[in-house]
Amino acid sequence: DLAHGVVLYLDGISVSFDGFKALNNLSLAIDAGELRCIIGPNGAGKTTMMDVITGKTRPDAGTAFFGQTIDLTKLTEAQIAHAGIGRKFQKPTIFERHTVFENLEISMKADKRVRKTLFAKLSSEEGDRIAATLGQIRLADNAKRVAGELSHGQKQWLEIGMLLMQEPKLLLLDEPVAGMSDDETERTAELFLSLAGQHSLVVVEHDMSFIARIAKKVTVLHEGSVLAEGTLDTVQSDPRVIEVYLGR
Ligand code: ADP
Repeated sequence: DLAHGVVLYLDGISVSFDGFKALNNLSLAIDAGELRCIIGPNGAGKTTMMDVITGKTRPDAGTAFFGQTIDLTKLTEAQIAHAGIGRKFQKPTIFERHTVFENLEISMKADKRVRKTLFAKLSSEEGDRIAATLGQIRLADNAKRVAGELSHGQKQWLEIGMLLMQEPKLLLLDEPVAGMSDDETERTAELFLSLAGQHSLVVVEHDMSFIARIAKKVTVLHEGSVLAEGTLDTVQSDPRVIEVYLGR
């Protein structure tokens, strides 16, 4: 069902904090299966945009639709997560004392659609799903390790795997390669490219070489609205973008 159409549609979104416009008439459309990177200087409104999409912040004006019919401005954070939007923050929230496998198992059982207690036995289908996700996030060889022992990059992948257990349609990722080694960054690029198509991804990132590796389309935010949109080459050579990045 993700083959066609727009998965996320923001139109005229404004958010003010004490009169200061963090988002100012922001409009954005993400196609189903797309991998979109969002860039912009500090204070551009990237985090606030993610907060509006996930229901953490209510916009003062504008509409936010997930698919054709789901009005995000009318749902709670929990309802939005359940509708199929998963968010990964910079700091991973994994269960450090549990194994990698258990972390995925806990996430799957926490999913409302599964509704299993933590001690219920896994069906073979559920075991297969965890195994497939372990392969996808490149942790198959580490399934029995305690999560706290993983490298920084591996912890990030585990958290992405935990989100994947909930089968999100749209994944929001905040600076996913910050602090990663070059090798981990490259593996993360491969992971994201393999997830796109099946999922839609919105990635806020500062690492331009990572963006160049993964994104067909980049959106530049500035002062709460879209300054430029297009390929990385196009936006990087846009005089307005250059001024915003270099003129400060
Ligand atoms: P970015 O993620 O692009 O750095 P943010 O969305 O975090 O930008 O912030 C946009 C602007 O809104 C910033 O100037 C920030 O100081 C302000 N802002 C964000 N959240 C709040 C808040 N809860 N209260 C007051 N101001 C805020």
